[in-house]
Amino acid sequence: MISVEEARAHLFSLVSAIPPETVPLSEAAGRVLAQDVTAGRDQPPFAASAMDGYAVKAAEVELHAMFKVIGEAAAGRGFEGKVGAGQAVRIFTGAPVPSGADFVVIQEDIDRREDLITISADPGGRSNIRPAGVDFRSGDTVAAPRLLSPEDVALLAAMNIADVPVTRKPIVALISTGDELVMPGETPGPDQIIASNTFGLKALLERAGAHVRMLPIARDTVASLKTAFELAGGADLVITIGGASVGDHDLVASVSAELGMERSFYKVRMRPGKPLMAGRMGNAAMVGLPGNPVSAMVCGYIFVLPMVRAMLGLPKTSPAPQTARLGKDLTENGPREHYMRAIFRDGEICALSDQDSSLLSVLARANALLIRQPGDPARMAGETVRYIALPD
Ligand code: AMP
Ligand code: MG
Repeated sequence: MISVEEARAHLFSLVSAIPPETVPLSEAAGRVLAQDVTAGRDQPPFAASAMDGYAVKAAEVELHAMFKVIGEAAAGRGFEGKVGAGQAVRIFTGAPVPSGADFVVIQEDIDRREDLITISADPGGRSNIRPAGVDFRSGDTVAAPRLLSPEDVALLAAMNIADVPVTRKPIVALISTGDELVMPGETPGPDQIIASNTFGLKALLERAGAHVRMLPIARDTVASLKTAFELAGGADLVITIGGASVGDHDLVASVSAELGMERSFYKVRMRPGKPLMAGRMGNAAMVGLPGNPVSAMVCGYIFVLPMVRAMLGLPKTSPAPQTARLGKDLTENGPREHYMRAIFRDGEICALSDQDSSLLSVLARANALLIRQPGDPARMAGETVRYIALPD
């Protein structure tokens, strides 16, 4: 059995960044920038007024000074002429500052009578002008890789980048296995339950930027599992759920081996999630997740998410643990690294009382995974522990 860190290193070695594609800017949010992009213009492209007011010469600005208004500069429609001594141009936010002027007196500080204005209140020392290129300059870049936020998209738009090179979404095929499973909305037989893991994992991985194909549930037969693997053709990452242990009905290991899976490891010193397997299968990476719902989701966070991020071209990093003060005593940990479902609140973390790996209601209540090292001794309230936050 290998450690969580070793498992993650193996998983990273199974994947690499997927080639880029180009998407319209309006679809770029949440995607990963695959190549540096460069502004082809300055922003603002000209010295622009930051306020509504009057553009004048700074040297002439003083209380009670008078000017003659000779024209107007609006956003999108500048003033062609030149501002001379004793002259002013009515100006609005975003308008180019006319030549000759280097100060905008805000309209609140002005008295106007027809074409004559007087500075009626102290205009202060700020020119109210945004210099050309103050936001960014032609040649400035946004560096890849970068998960594009809404703010980034706004910046790219301002840079006039209409088509954005992003990593193609990794295609992830999800295969639930088990005779006991039916899809949500169906009527289960008396011995059946509803497949839940595929839905949780789909949501998790799509939020991370994957394109998820949910395949039909594979029954616990060799033929059904083979069919499911065939349907997964074309995926970058194939994930099975369940059937990964060594019971009579656990066929994932044998069937994937028969189909040519080169196994990289099997079993991780981890709780929940021990029966995890992974390898390469044709052109895809393959991960066999345990079936217990909490195990599958926790392994999704700890292992599959980092793989998806690596496929997106983001750095191969582990989820970064944070530290918190323990709010409730913990007994000694067993021989496996334990990811305990926990609640973090007001700087304090408490493990939930029932840690059975089948309890989705407990996982849904948790907002953190409290990490215990193998053999970690009993811990008292007040000690510092590590945890990973589960996003809202
Ligand atoms: P297995 O690894 O196939 O032995 O499954 C372990 C446990 O997880 C069993 O109780 C299964 O019923 C349950 N299980 C397996 N796959 C799923 C799934 N997709 N959704 C919900 N429960 C599952
Ligand atoms: Mg099963």
